[in-house]
Amino acid sequence: MKTIIEPFRIKSVEPIRMTTRDERQAILAKAHYNLFSIPSRDVLIDLLTDSGTAAMSAEQWGALMRGDESYAGSPSFERFESAVRNLMPFRHIIPTHQGRAAEAILFNLLGGPGLIIPSNTHFDTTRGNIEATGAEARDLLIAEGHDPQSLHPFKGNMDIARLEALLAKEQASVPCVMLTITNNASGGQPVSLDNIKATAALARRFGKPFFIDGCRFAENAWFIKTREAGQDQRSIVEIVREVFAHADGMTMSAKKDGFANIGGWLALNDETLASEARSRLILTEGFPTYGGLAGRDLDAIAQGLSEIVDEDYLRYRVRVNEYIVERLVDAGVPVMRPAGGHAVFLDAKAMLPHIPSLEYPGQALACALYEEGGIRGCEIGSVMFGLQPDGSEKAADMEYVRLAMPRRVYTQSHADHVIETTLAVHERRAGLRGMRVSKAPIRLRHFTCQFEPV
Ligand SMILES: *Cc1c(COP(=O)(O)O)cnc(C)c1O
Repeated sequence: MKTIIEPFRIKSVEPIRMTTRDERQAILAKAHYNLFSIPSRDVLIDLLTDSGTAAMSAEQWGALMRGDESYAGSPSFERFESAVRNLMPFRHIIPTHQGRAAEAILFNLLGGPGLIIPSNTHFDTTRGNIEATGAEARDLLIAEGHDPQSLHPFKGNMDIARLEALLAKEQASVPCVMLTITNNASGGQPVSLDNIKATAALARRFGKPFFIDGCRFAENAWFIKTREAGQDQRSIVEIVREVFAHADGMTMSAKKDGFANIGGWLALNDETLASEARSRLILTEGFPTYGGLAGRDLDAIAQGLSEIVDEDYLRYRVRVNEYIVERLVDAGVPVMRPAGGHAVFLDAKAMLPHIPSLEYPGQALACALYEEGGIRGCEIGSVMFGLQPDGSEKAADMEYVRLAMPRRVYTQSHADHVIETTLAVHERRAGLRGMRVSKAPIRLRHFTCQFEPV
């Protein structure tokens, strides 16, 4: 077959409400140019996030009905636990309402003032949970990962030499080593099996537990299969099992590669740590056989895990982003390459050199995509990272607009619309103007702040 088709057909649909450019201009102004403030019914293609936005399968909807809502010992938990353990062979599997709850429990136990927790790149909730304990979240990404044009096949890799130097110098201050697969914050770029093994070996040599943030474990396994030497004959399940066999535990958001709308887990091998984690879980989430979830959610995740490792799905999943990136690169639009697993990252700094960083080129581009074609993306640049703890502003390293793909939701014609819209905005890029912040909260301003065009 030449065209990689969507490996599913559609059984239940949600209408998209069409809007005109005039309407969208008015909607944008009313939302003070913050796309988080736009009601989703006013969005044509919603690429704000791939988190919790997946379309569930008929089997998952069926599994919801099978959900058993017993407080303790529900068979839904047994199905969930064995589905997780089938892929990730950990001794203790602790359900949580989403990924950040697993992180909060783990770092409550391992973090603390003066400690340093290294990773390839910490996701923002991971960083937030580590910093909330007084510890430092340190990113040790390889140099290629910082270059949007580098075609390195595993741009999400840990810089092993810097990790080794850190462990040698600060051994007493490092309670554990983490690795995020795929590396969300650096563009959904994968981590190689070789790099996972090398990170695990270093952690072991220095006597540190090694944890994987496994939110996009299936996409990462697909990249290992298709890009890493000697891996193409192995099944996704085999690769996934090997990846997690190198770790002492994991945190997970089932809203990503769990194909679920809510959920997550913390998995651990260490008995003492698991027992402490369950005590915290009972305080903050719920009893250990449901965590922060309903029985039906556990069943939806269990079923989702059997579908996410399907190779036809993963081939289509990764191909959508490659397809968009290829078309944009052909037309000279600056984008992060190679395409990431879950999103396309437009490089607003390169596209809009006439807009200074602190007039937020990413925000200007995100608003233009909405105005042009009703597409909602997310600025990942100086709006998100520019505000300093002392209230001052500093330009971020990069100015991206992330177009994150919900799983199994949009079709190729939707992808074509994304391409056409981006090309149209690129054509008129010289006329785009920057933004200024007119009203902002003191923290996490990107969610609620207001803008006006300069
Ligand atoms: C989404 C995400 C998290 C947090 O998960 P939530 O379910 O949103 O709390 C952690 N790490 C990575 C890499 C993520 O993408």
